[in-house]
Amino acid sequence: MNADIALWKSTDGLTEDERRIVKRSLGFFSTADSLVANNLVLAVYRLITNPECRQYILRQAFEEAIHTHAYQYCIESLGMDEGEIFNMYHEIPSVAKKASWGLKYTRSISDPTFQTGTPETDRQFLKNLIAYYCVLEGIFFYCGFTQILSMGRRNKMTGTAEQFQYILRDESMHLNFGIDMINQIKIENPHLWDAEMKDEATQMILQGTQLEIEYARDTMPRGVLGMNAAMMEDYLKFIANRRLTQIGLKEEYPGTTNPFPWMSEIMDLKKEKNFFETRVIEYQTGGALSWD
Ligand code: FE
Repeated sequence: MNADIALWKSTDGLTEDERRIVKRSLGFFSTADSLVANNLVLAVYRLITNPECRQYILRQAFEEAIHTHAYQYCIESLGMDEGEIFNMYHEIPSVAKKASWGLKYTRSISDPTFQTGTPETDRQFLKNLIAYYCVLEGIFFYCGFTQILSMGRRNKMTGTAEQFQYILRDESMHLNFGIDMINQIKIENPHLWDAEMKDEATQMILQGTQLEIEYARDTMPRGVLGMNAAMMEDYLKFIANRRLTQIGLKEEYPGTTNPFPWMSEIMDLKKEKNFFETRVIEYQTGGALSWD
């Protein structure tokens, strides 16, 4: 974090617009990852009884804790005003709306007497999974991640950006797991996935996309880091199309293209890196070694 701290404390290293992005990202994500963790531990874990899924959910919950810790570490290292950062989720409307949109889906199923097993409660549970995996982790993380990673690509806040890169790698796994779980529930319970439920799921993804577009406009009143709110809107619509098709729904923004193709490259980071040298080290298992 040394370079980040020097840059953050310098008076001319970052523009006001860039500072806003760093603060908003840390403010939103430090809250969001703990919302995801709470939802998993207090609501989802009890209701998913498949042992393999539970194993993964435990891993995911652990990763969310590490993510929250990483954000806190950045906030502390940069000497930010913690009151300002940690209160964003109720003081900054674009952040608050996303947090409360997610929270309402936890509230409905975290009641200890809530049980699945009827079409209504099963649908409620399915909506929670769609809210958290497809929208919270699948859409709400994307504007902030793109902004911070774009900063890193421009050699600014590289320590923070590197941590975000690792977090994004985990998040794309969480997302894939969630999509698999949602699709499996659909296969096992085809009666849940009727026209009404499909429409509700589509509306949830569209609402989430709209909130993320508002967040993009709020965090980027002007062009910054080679991007602007209009480009982000295209990117978010492109992501929303992906989320919709991943759970078997039709694209709502046909013809949208990806203005940030470099994001997929960063996300597909399957390599293990040496933390201390940031050198890529490809691990090979004994059987896969080639001796030429
Ligand atoms: Fe996650």
